[in-house]
Amino acid sequence: MRWIAAIALVVGLAGLAFSDERRAPGVRQARSVGSPQDGRLLHGRRLRETPFIEILPHAAPRGRRFGTEELVGVLTRAAGAVADKHPGSTLRVADLSARGGGDVHMHASHESGRDADVAFYLRDAGGADARPPRFVKMIVGRSADGSLVFDAARNWTFVEALVADRRTTVTHVFVAEHLKALLVAEARAAGARPGRIERAEAILTQPRGAFPHDNHFHIRVACAPEDRPECVDGTRRSRRR
Ligand SMILES: [Zn+2]
Repeated sequence: MRWIAAIALVVGLAGLAFSDERRAPGVRQARSVGSPQDGRLLHGRRLRETPFIEILPHAAPRGRRFGTEELVGVLTRAAGAVADKHPGSTLRVADLSARGGGDVHMHASHESGRDADVAFYLRDAGGADARPPRFVKMIVGRSADGSLVFDAARNWTFVEALVADRRTTVTHVFVAEHLKALLVAEARAAGARPGRIERAEAILTQPRGAFPHDNHFHIRVACAPEDRPECVDGTRRSRRR
């Protein structure tokens, strides 16, 4: 019977590889079902590491790297936009959804392939790019010990790319109010288009009565039209990250 198991394994692995990596580019296969808090993900696309996307070491073994094409696409494009404008920048990503979606330990949402947690772009006190291997809490623009600084310029470039993306509608970027204020001030100082600032102000949100999101961005994208009505945008706020 061992050969049956071996064949099943090979077929299974081939299937997994096909579902994640070998699909034709541009073909939309992932489907988000249900809401971020109670949902599933069918044929999710795996977020791949690139020269400007890195999976945080604590998150990598959990394997929550799956999302819809819209989510994976917008993260990849926005990270690329930051790296174009600020060479050497890397977006550090933690959890998206599990393969297949569903309950994810430590998160109230992240169930339907439309949520992602990403670290802030940070600098050290001397102004150099800093990439700590974890999320770092910001207290008014700095870490508690003052050694790391919220890089408003790069974080605004990232948020602007999310807002301006033509293929994906980002509905929420959960982040603490004091960091939102820094981002909006940066956008104004940088002369960003008023329409983009207005849109950013609408989607940058500190969830009320919940984890304040002062150590990472939580990004949520809209249901793709093709996934409705099974996909539900959902307005319930995330209690945890
Ligand atoms: Zn989250």
